[in-house]
Amino acid sequence: MNVEEFNSETDSDYSSYWRDWFISSRGHEYFCEIDEEYLTDRFNLTGLNTEVQYYQYALDLVTDVFDFECNDDMREQIEKSARHLYGLVHARYIITTRGLQKMLEKYKKCDFGRCPRVLCSGQPLLPIGLSDLPNVKSVKLYCGRCEDVYVPKSSRHAVIDGAYFGASFPHILFQVYPQLIPQKSTERHIPRCFGFKVHASAALIRWQEQQRVAQRRRLIEAGVEVPTPEEAERMQDSDDGEEEEVDPAEVEEKQPSW
Ligand SMILES: [Zn+2]
Repeated sequence: MNVEEFNSETDSDYSSYWRDWFISSRGHEYFCEIDEEYLTDRFNLTGLNTEVQYYQYALDLVTDVFDFECNDDMREQIEKSARHLYGLVHARYIITTRGLQKMLEKYKKCDFGRCPRVLCSGQPLLPIGLSDLPNVKSVKLYCGRCEDVYVPKSSRHAVIDGAYFGASFPHILFQVYPQLIPQKSTERHIPRCFGFKVHASAALIRWQEQQRVAQRRRLIEAGVEVPTPEEAERMQDSDDGEEEEVDPAEVEEKQPSW
């Protein structure tokens, strides 16, 4: 096959929806499809022309209007730039109303996996970047229940640039959809050897638990209504969501006795 034939063949492939191909490729499961209108509004792409090599060709490729005769090496470079451009625009797009909706659908389907922490009971995860700058850190997964971040299981996902999702995405999603904030997990694993609490870790957990109870008492004294974890769970389960008055004496009783 000569180069011309090869080019014309790939041209026809690209003309049929580059973005479809991109999001359906293996390893790209975390990405959602960016709307055509968003991509074609130059305002949304401000500053990216200096960030992406062959910016105009890359943009043409992403928006299916690529029409440039070039050799394979050049084509590969442009293809690489197009993927980088898509990722950078993606980080901006997923915090728009429409982008949040698309990512929410993926979250509901557990497209980003579930928290590996046993006490999080399979809480679905959300992708997060530890930096908004490209080429700094790869994408991680955030659990809204234990509020910790994890490395994706698949190596295909683990190499994706975190900047394609951004450091604020999960928090913006929970701000826009507060009803989706998972019940915080106060349940802790207590290390034990044959039933006896392991000394150092047990002491730390005991101290943390005391701090939590003390903080709770301070909040109640300051007039802030603080439901017990059990009450909070009941409130979330019941539809009326009516809060009960917390009796400080009751809280006193709930203190660990050790
Ligand atoms: Zn978790």
